[in-house]
Amino acid sequence: MKDRKRVLVTGAGGFIGHHLVRFLRQKGYWVRGADIKYPEFSPKDEADEFMLLDLRYLDNCLKATEGVEEVYALAANMGGIGFITFHTSDVLYDNVCINANTAEAAKKNGVKRLFYSSSACVYPTYKQREANVSALKEQDAYPADPDNEYGWEKLFSERLYKSYGDFYEVRIARYHNIFGPEGTYEGGREKAPAAICRKVALAKDGDYIEIWGDGLQTRSFCHIDDCLEGTFRLMNSDFKEPLNIGSDRLVSINEMVDIVAKIAGKSLQKKHLLDKPQGVRGRNSDNTLCKKILNWEPKISLEEGLEKTYKWILSQVKK
Ligand code: NAD
Repeated sequence: MKDRKRVLVTGAGGFIGHHLVRFLRQKGYWVRGADIKYPEFSPKDEADEFMLLDLRYLDNCLKATEGVEEVYALAANMGGIGFITFHTSDVLYDNVCINANTAEAAKKNGVKRLFYSSSACVYPTYKQREANVSALKEQDAYPADPDNEYGWEKLFSERLYKSYGDFYEVRIARYHNIFGPEGTYEGGREKAPAAICRKVALAKDGDYIEIWGDGLQTRSFCHIDDCLEGTFRLMNSDFKEPLNIGSDRLVSINEMVDIVAKIAGKSLQKKHLLDKPQGVRGRNSDNTLCKKILNWEPKISLEEGLEKTYKWILSQVKK
């Protein structure tokens, strides 16, 4: 056991983080998780070690990064479009502190390689005004004009981590709407796929369900298992620039509701809430560079991913 590579996953109490802990352990790593909270939907002893720490502070980041070779930096104060629209100072302050102190602690503790989970939210508003958008290439991030503070912080932190490239290897993914089982599905931080699965699960045949915006806004959605595979491949590649990890299948929110309703075997009506935040009009991932660098791209279809997610959320709301 002594020669297992030791890695840290920050944000290990969250959706992607706790899946990543499981994934890396299955690959044979010794994994420490760190988060301000334990995972909600998996056992807390799934990691070899779990530290409850507020990573906005340098001394806590030093504890978390001590004795590990690699860091997967996923901790962030974030949520769906409602949360990031209405908690801008928390999103900026908390995430700048988390990332600045994680980057510095990794240097002080001699970490060899660090992965940072950036976001498609870094891309500029002017490239995302139409529902039928062109997919976003990595180089489209500049000239910068992210749609919200969450995206600005991600763009800043990409640069922050890159500036530590003299001290350790840095890898950066831009995730596009990751979804799947064992993620937040209620309470205000949930994202669109989980919120829609919950609403459909709770609805009776023929009911109206509420949709934020007119439902014509578009996105692409990437299943968690593809996200983990892409993350691992990128971390172990030689590529030092930010890389999209996302599906390139564009769907409208209305289409996604119809897919989930079909999975559930329910016929539902949509009530569109036009005063709710809906983010940019359209967003898709261009995977040309991903395919070239990783020799891979996400494979799990939206229908398959939503079926797994719907079944899990249905089992939760029935409890
Ligand atoms: P999540 O909210 O489920 O996980 C983030 C975790 O960070 C949470 O468990 C939270 O408790 C923890 N955290 C927050 N503040 C902390 C603090 N001060 N100290 C320690 N831990 C703290 O989100 P997720 O969906 O798992 O996302 C993981 C990462 O991927 C985040 O950085 C997120 O910005 C990024 N990302 C996610 C998506 C997506 O679609 N899920 C898309 C783009 C980027």
